[in-house]
Amino acid sequence: MRRSAQLDQYSAYIGEDVLTTIYNKADKLRGIHVSHINTTAHGGGVAEILAELEPLVRDFDIKHTRKIIQLDEKAHDFTSSLIGLLQGGQSGDISATDRDNFVDWLGQARLSEHDDAADAYIVHDYQLVPLAQLYDWMKPAAWFCHVDTAHPNPHALNYVKSFLDAYQLAIFNTELSVFPDLPTNFSQVMILGIDPFQRKHAPLEHAQGVKILQQCGIDVHRPLITQVSRFDPWKNPKQVIDVYRLVKQQLPEVQLAFVGAMTATDDTGAVDVLHDLQHYADGDTDIHFLSDPAIVGDDQVNAFQRYSSVILQRSLREGFGLTATEAMWKNQPVVGTSATGLRTQLVDGQNGYIVDDTATCAERTLELLLKRDLWQRLGTNAHEHVRTHYLLPMMLLSYLDALEKIYLTPSQQTGIESQVTVSDIDPENTASLAD
Ligand code: UDP
Repeated sequence: MRRSAQLDQYSAYIGEDVLTTIYNKADKLRGIHVSHINTTAHGGGVAEILAELEPLVRDFDIKHTRKIIQLDEKAHDFTSSLIGLLQGGQSGDISATDRDNFVDWLGQARLSEHDDAADAYIVHDYQLVPLAQLYDWMKPAAWFCHVDTAHPNPHALNYVKSFLDAYQLAIFNTELSVFPDLPTNFSQVMILGIDPFQRKHAPLEHAQGVKILQQCGIDVHRPLITQVSRFDPWKNPKQVIDVYRLVKQQLPEVQLAFVGAMTATDDTGAVDVLHDLQHYADGDTDIHFLSDPAIVGDDQVNAFQRYSSVILQRSLREGFGLTATEAMWKNQPVVGTSATGLRTQLVDGQNGYIVDDTATCAERTLELLLKRDLWQRLGTNAHEHVRTHYLLPMMLLSYLDALEKIYLTPSQQTGIESQVTVSDIDPENTASLAD
């Protein structure tokens, strides 16, 4: 069993038995080539997950390659309306013509068996679900759903399900998003996790963090509310401004920051959302928009998540919401909504708040701004919750489980000793390590 120095760093967090299970699973998969296919190289949760897994799987001799299928404007229009339906925000249907046009577009040799063949394929997100059916050499394949499908419009659900036969497995971020009626051995919940050794989440001295905020135009002597997110209507940024305005009536010195570097190439609507939001801010110089990727990098995200006075995540829908996990790791009690991924992570009143309406959200935010003992206590719980549930090795174990399911044939699996799986990890029995 060859060990990975990077993974071994986690022994203080998760215990040796889990590490051993990971190594045993990885050994069975050593040498395979997995192709990940998605719509953007940078920005957003998918890119984040792949970047985190990459160095670890390299240590296991599992080769990852990325294939990006960049959507054109028409394809983007189709998928924007599809996500509106799939996440349940809108009623309506998918026209047969729109569906056929999009599927034809995807089928126009965007992939070739000659150049893109691998031992296993992971197709990311709702946009690309037709791929395994279109390219029948793409086997074995798993479809990985990253969006919030807890309340799908039935037409959108049927659209996605009509392509699933070509897959061996469908992966979801949370139990709540798993489509009803899928055979149990066809679906898997893959726990997401963050890597505390990554620069974005590494310890950052207070003085250094404050300096970074200052460089971003923040007055560090006044309280700051922040939401870190892509500029996307599903992240509900207008409500963030409404909440800030209510808080400002009680606490005039408060400031607001939106941190959303525009790096995702599949996020073509982001510029419009930002402009709309700037218009809504109506010249308020205490509202800061940080969207330039030349200015907002890992250190800036780290500083805002760590040293803002309160972190909001007001998403209307959320598959998981890594931004919440990241802030919680940095001792922030996030004021979130009941969106699927957020209510999975947050325990209301214990490690943050789950609140949907603007007025109550403003009350909670003000409370956290004024009662710093409460903020600190909930923040400590938030950090602990992430330590015990959402660190990278838990995600890695889920990922290896998925690869095992799709790649290893039953005969190859015979003889694998009974091993710990993610659901067997007892968070209470894992060792602790200070951030
Ligand atoms: N992110 C970032 N810079 C930014 C804004 C976001 O690196 O300016 C990252 C953030 O740290 C997180 C990811 O983008 O890791 C967003 O993932 P999430 O699951 O919250 O939302 P998604 O974008 O996938 O909807």
